[in-house]
Amino acid sequence: MPVPRPILVADDPRFDGHQSSRPHPERPERLAAARAGLKAALPPERRRDLTLRKASDEAIERVHRPGYAGALRGALAQGSGDLDPDTYFCPETGESTWLAAGAAADLADALVRDPGERAIALLRPPGHHARPGTPMGFCLINNVAVAAAAARASGLARVAIVDWDVHHGNGTQEIFEADDSVLFVSLHQHPFYPGTGSPRETGKGAGRGATVNVGFPAGTGSEAYGEAFRRVVLPRLTAFDPELVLVSAGYDAHERDPLAGLSLEAATFGAMATALDDFCGESRSLGFFLEGGYDLQALEGSVAATTRALTGEARVELPEGEPSAREREAIEATLAAHRQP
Ligand SMILES: [Zn+2]
Repeated sequence: MPVPRPILVADDPRFDGHQSSRPHPERPERLAAARAGLKAALPPERRRDLTLRKASDEAIERVHRPGYAGALRGALAQGSGDLDPDTYFCPETGESTWLAAGAAADLADALVRDPGERAIALLRPPGHHARPGTPMGFCLINNVAVAAAAARASGLARVAIVDWDVHHGNGTQEIFEADDSVLFVSLHQHPFYPGTGSPRETGKGAGRGATVNVGFPAGTGSEAYGEAFRRVVLPRLTAFDPELVLVSAGYDAHERDPLAGLSLEAATFGAMATALDDFCGESRSLGFFLEGGYDLQALEGSVAATTRALTGEARVELPEGEPSAREREAIEATLAAHRQP
C-alpha cells in the first residue's frame, strides 16, 4: 500500500479576530465548529499545516481592481464599522482578511507544485461575494479567485471553481466571466441573495460558456444535487479538463442553516467531495475554501464529511433518488442555456 498523502490545511487563530460588536451570523464560533469537524475526521499524521502569510497587493489585484488593496486598507484604518449593510469590520479585520487571501494564494502554489494534492482552507472572512471593486456580503477579498489567479500566474492553463455555497458566488463570476481559462460552476438557491446566478448567465465574450449556474428553488434536497452533479457539474468539468479544481465550500445549503432554505445533509457534501476527489484523481489537485455555513452543528458535520471523503474514510455515492419536477426544471434550464450557440 502506498503511504496516503497528507492533506494540506490552512487555518490560523488570527482568523478569530474578525468579529462584529453586534450579533452577526459570520462569527468566530463558525471556525471553532469547522475546526472540530476537521479534527474529528483528519488523523494528525495525515495533516500538514501551511504556514500563513499575508497576501501581496499583487496577488489581490490580479482579481480586484488596481488600487483595491490600498483603498480597502484605508477603509479598515477607520477601526470598525460597516463596508456595506452586511459587511462589518473591526480592528483585527485587516489581519484576518490579508491572511485568508495570502493562504489562498500560497495554497494554490502548493496545489500547482504537486498535482494530486488535496487541501482544506478554513478561512475567515469568506470571499465569494467580494466583487472586483467592492466588498460585499460578509466578504472583503475574494479568496478563491485569488487562488485561481495565483494558479494561472504559476503557469496553469485551465482552473475550475465549483461553488456549492447556497448563495450565488457573484463576485467570483464577475471576476472570471470574460475569461475562458477559468470555469465557474455554481449550485445555489435562486432567486435568492445576491440576486444573480440565473442559468442564463453563461459568461461573456471569450468566457462565454465557462460560467455555469444551476439555480434551485427553496426546499431543494440532496437528490437534485446528485442529479446536477451527474448531468451538469461532472460533464462540464470533463469537457473543460481543468488542471486544478477549487471549491467555494459553503455549508449553508444544509437543511439546518438559518439563512437559507435548501435541504442538504452533511452526507450530501461528502458525496459531492467524493465525486470531485474521483474526478481529480492523482493528476489534478483539489482545494476546498470555506465560504458560508451558519449553523454550527451543520458546519461541523459537513466539514467532517468533506474531510472523510478526502481521507477515504467515508466515500459517499452521489444521491440517486428522483428530484422533484421543479428541481429537474432548474437543471434543464442550465442545460438549455448551454446548448444555445
Ligand atoms: Zn452563503
